Amino acid sequence: DLPVVVIAGRPNVGKSTLFNRLVGRRQALVADTPGVTRDRKEAETVMRGRRVRLVDTAGLEEAAADTLYGRMRASSESAVAQADLVLFCIDTRAGITPADEHFAAWLRRQGRPVLLIANKAEGRQGAAAAMEAFALGLGTPLAISAEHGEGLSDLMGEIADRL
Ligand code: GDP
Ligand code: MG
Repeated sequence: DLPVVVIAGRPNVGKSTLFNRLVGRRQALVADTPGVTRDRKEAETVMRGRRVRLVDTAGLEEAAADTLYGRMRASSESAVAQADLVLFCIDTRAGITPADEHFAAWLRRQGRPVLLIANKAEGRQGAAAAMEAFALGLGTPLAISAEHGEGLSDLMGEIADRL
């Protein structure tokens, strides 16, 4: 079976944009409004010569009732449980939010390998701002811009190294 790489994080951090970039086709629906992605999107793709199954989680967007954190955990659990590697994404422009912190704390307890992705880190201040994500306790943040296509080659190499 192919290694499974799961893209996780709170709504609107750019998970689907990253999925599309890594897959190279517009397979996942990307929108400004959280709540658009209804299904879990999966695609086979290649990272530095390694075939992987990439999963764009939609669970967080589907959360509709009860507490946000409860829903996050419930809806992300199955995808993360099956992951050989989790790409945990944050929005560098927004900074670390309470939702990021809660999700990161939950993720640390899962014991799956995690790569911390500081997305929306384009431009001059991007890389420096991304370092704020160190505080999540998930290792060194990898600064990228999914939308502008920055840092993706490094990211793919890092993913391949971790599998
Ligand atoms: P998701 O909810 O996590 O799947 O996030 P989306 O991929 O739908 O993206 C949410 C919004 O962030 C959209 O308006 C994207 O265009 C925008 N976005 C995604 N990646 C980047 C990025 O690298 N930089 C900037 N500035 N915006 C981005
Ligand atoms: Mg999405």
